[in-house]
Amino acid sequence: MVVVGGGSAGLQAALMLGRARRTVTVVDGGRPRNAAASAVHNLLGHEGIAPDALLARGRADALRYGVEIVPGSVVDVRRHDPHWLVRTEDGARWHARALLLATGIVEDLPAIDGLASRWGRDVVACPYCHGWEARDKAVAVVGSGPRAWQHLLLLLRFTPDLALISNGPAGLDEARLEYLRRAGVVIRENPVARVEVDGDRLTAVRLVTGETLPREALFVVTARRQPSDLAARLGCPVLSEGPMAGAIDADATGRTSVPNVWAAGSSVNPGLTVIGAAGHASAVAIAINNALIDEDVAREIAGWNAGQDVVGRPMG
Ligand SMILES: Cc1cc2nc3c(=O)[nH]c(=O)nc-3n(C[C@H](O)[C@H](O)[C@H](O)COP(=O)(O)OP(=O)(O)OC[C@H]3O[C@@H](n4cnc5c(N)ncnc54)[C@H](O)[C@@H]3O)c2cc1C
Repeated sequence: MVVVGGGSAGLQAALMLGRARRTVTVVDGGRPRNAAASAVHNLLGHEGIAPDALLARGRADALRYGVEIVPGSVVDVRRHDPHWLVRTEDGARWHARALLLATGIVEDLPAIDGLASRWGRDVVACPYCHGWEARDKAVAVVGSGPRAWQHLLLLLRFTPDLALISNGPAGLDEARLEYLRRAGVVIRENPVARVEVDGDRLTAVRLVTGETLPREALFVVTARRQPSDLAARLGCPVLSEGPMAGAIDADATGRTSVPNVWAAGSSVNPGLTVIGAAGHASAVAIAINNALIDEDVAREIAGWNAGQDVVGRPMG
């Protein structure tokens, strides 16, 4: 089978499937979501490890069980019965009985001058991943609506010096705004002019009004989307609304609506951390292996009873 994506989810699934004696190829574009960060936090047994060091270990683990790992981007997948034909941008091809999309999710940052260059350092998205590092600092949430609200509630546990810079309407009702004011959160709805940086350090957010808010870390509300049109080309629906917007629609076992196409990790749940993505992928790998075994057994039994279905009833 082919696993598209060799981040934490893809490599964990490959490890599990390799150890289950499946023939597995991982094709990986090499752009994991946390590539810009210097450390992976909340990862039991590997707390603080560098993201690339973690994936290097993951690749070494999978290679021990015969998994093939190929750098490249899958650009096309077609049905070529009874298999899928997978093609990369440089023309390499594989036939695969099943496909696992572990392609992650892309986070688009608000279009604010200076923001992107600080991504993964003092501009981040997840209070669970980086709240600890921002404790007692001057912090702002940049964004609006329910996800900004959620970030603020989490960050109030880390610092008393918190601002909401919504870069337009805050998108919160008056009760929530009042709650934030009473908690000491500074609220600014004016558009942002730019992020100010001194050397290798974020120092402030400047509003178009000319006001400058000294800040040491920003938690931004990002827009999430699939990294490519691969899921759409395969016919796998992508959710467009709600907290899972941007994710591939799959059931609890990672099965999509397209036969023998599965999805795991942050491609199906953008909120998953590294250990969560790997854990999800591990469960999906078990579901894939079990489904392939069931398929083989059903085919074999059907073969014995030619002209009958697997429970012996005549076929119409
Ligand atoms: C700045 C930042 C910091 C973070 N810090 C932490 C942290 O401290 N702790 C934590 O637990 N989580 C952290 N996260 C979340 C973490 O990045 C994700 O949980 C994790 O990356 C999810 O793993 P994944 O395998 O699902 O996706 P990814 O890691 O994004 O891997 C997907 C892989 O698929 C590849 N791919 C995509 N499309 C194709 C294609 N068509 N063909 C081939 N390959 C393809 C990509 O190139 C990539 O290598 C952070 C996220 C960000 C943005």
